[in-house]
Amino acid sequence: MRRREQDHDDSPYVFCDQCQQMSERMLIQECPFCFKDFCRSCAIRSGNAAFCSKACAKGWFFAEADEEEAEEEKKEKT
Ligand SMILES: [Zn+2]
Ligand SMILES: [Zn+2]
Repeated sequence: MRRREQDHDDSPYVFCDQCQQMSERMLIQECPFCFKDFCRSCAIRSGNAAFCSKACAKGWFFAEADEEEAEEEKKEKT
């Protein structure tokens, strides 16, 4: 019978997907755009959110801008 401890996701240490460094879980954040885990030194702060990379920060705000535009279009039609 095989037991894989690594399948348990509650170890106190997590690998950063960006720099592959191991950090304390409390210092690791999840990117709201691509859902990768990243450490503090990799974090890109944008507005009041933090992202794993500039590309994600950009992508996130483009997505938000698109939503706002779509809502404005709806208002114009009605
Ligand atoms: Zn990192
Ligand atoms: Zn990301």
